Amino acid sequence: MNLTEADVQKIISSVMTNIEKKLSDTASVSAASAASMAVPQAGSAQPVVAASAGGDHGVFDRAEDAVKAAYQAQAVFVQNYKLEAREAIISAIRQATLANKQELAQMIVAETKLGKLADKLAKLELTAAKTPGTEDLKTLAFSGDDGLTIVEQGPFGVIGAVTPVTNPVETIINNSIGMIASGNAVVFNVHPSSKKCSAFAVQMINQAILAAGGPENLVTMVKEPTKETLEQIVAAPETKLLVGTGGPGLVKALLSSGKKAIGAGAGNPPVIVDETADIEHAAKEIIKGASFDNNILCIAEKEVFVVDSVADDLIYHMMNHGAYRLDQQELDQVMSFALEANEQQVARGCSLDTKRVFHTVKDWIGKDAMTFLDKLGVNPGKEVELLICEVDFDHPFVQLEQMMPVLPIVRVRNLDEAIELAVKAEHGNRHTALMHSRNVEHLTRFARAIGTTIFVKNASSLAGVGFEGEGHTTMTIAGPTGEGLTSARTFTRQRRCVLAEGAFRIV
Ligand code: NAD
Repeated sequence: MNLTEADVQKIISSVMTNIEKKLSDTASVSAASAASMAVPQAGSAQPVVAASAGGDHGVFDRAEDAVKAAYQAQAVFVQNYKLEAREAIISAIRQATLANKQELAQMIVAETKLGKLADKLAKLELTAAKTPGTEDLKTLAFSGDDGLTIVEQGPFGVIGAVTPVTNPVETIINNSIGMIASGNAVVFNVHPSSKKCSAFAVQMINQAILAAGGPENLVTMVKEPTKETLEQIVAAPETKLLVGTGGPGLVKALLSSGKKAIGAGAGNPPVIVDETADIEHAAKEIIKGASFDNNILCIAEKEVFVVDSVADDLIYHMMNHGAYRLDQQELDQVMSFALEANEQQVARGCSLDTKRVFHTVKDWIGKDAMTFLDKLGVNPGKEVELLICEVDFDHPFVQLEQMMPVLPIVRVRNLDEAIELAVKAEHGNRHTALMHSRNVEHLTRFARAIGTTIFVKNASSLAGVGFEGEGHTTMTIAGPTGEGLTSARTFTRQRRCVLAEGAFRIV
């Protein structure tokens, strides 16, 4: 074969390009390896992000770029970072959350206009402290005459996650910790009404990861989230798992996608109070749960069924401990401004039922009890946390997941009726239910009849997510798809690795 001068030049230039590429690949891998050795500044409780955090740091204009960046980050992460390094990164996220909690809480309230500042702080603290990290991953082992088999929990890769307006930043932090602990990267499509505080949180998380020596863009989001950007994230071949926290429309959309999806949907948690309960304790705990963050939590007590013989007692104690009882006229007024007719026959709240007669007016969701009383022209002369009203089972406040600090109370003849109505009011969400009783048989009967993901006995609903209750916390309670209170291990693939005895077998 005869080579011309031009052929020789082409070969030299191709060899030079290959050498340069090899050198640059080696440099980036060693940078990543070096990074994996780094530990976050010990005990650093300083905010890692200034108030005016700018730059991209995980926030992308295009869904496609957010997915690609997360994909690349996950590839580096899973190749170069040991469990110890993952823990260092998670610890940095926890510290950053605590260091920035005041600012985060203020941003959430200002942007979403839902709930209470103090309760946002409590949720952020809970999320930072009680979201499990890598310790949640457990390897299963079988050993015997035929050798050793282990079942490991491996990452999916890139997870597409959708967050609700009711826990916007808390869900991002909680999901990020769990998903990173299990070796994944995550792309968020957040609720559009929380995009600013969410972007701040994503940037904060990326800064914390970088400061702990981790790769950039393990956590990304779309700057202007829409249903179209969600469709792009879902359709991207890099996205291997979907996790949706929100109402029934979202869960249905993700479950229809053809990809593996974890759905954390709506609730309408009923509370039963029977004649054996410590009534004053029940009153205090119901107020605590139902008034927390103005009742926007999916686990919050949404309607009470109380046995007639103790109903007056319960209402008396509730009024003594921060509740205001609406009379019929006040209740009618609240209904006139806080509910709207479902003229378009659309489904909202805890149900996909388009025939619901009412919806909650958006402006009243998550507002303070005192704001309601202001509108009614009532001066209670003391701080009121919760409004209560006596209604029938069919009342819209019982049937709707209204997310307002207005708690309907239904009198029932006995436990049988309480269980029957509570199961109906939960609408098959299988989310959360509560009971106040000292009778174990009563508690067991209700728990079996309702079959919810969370069942709390003699405490507020908050105990169900580890707030003054044992167990880890989550912001993503996967009732519809059955994973329960999600954590790192939920976001993993099971992988079996077998070591046979082979030539060493004793015969
Ligand atoms: P939402 O359903 O209106 O929105 C949740 C997210 O889904 C948002 O990001 C929204 O943009 C998106 N979305 C909504 N409908 C969609 C659709 N049809 N297709 C694609 N995306 C869609 O809910 P919200 O008002 O943000 O949050 C409150 C709801 O979430 C309540 O029903 C509450 O019970 C539920 N929730 C559940 C959990 C849980 O862990 N199970 C936690 C928090 C909130």
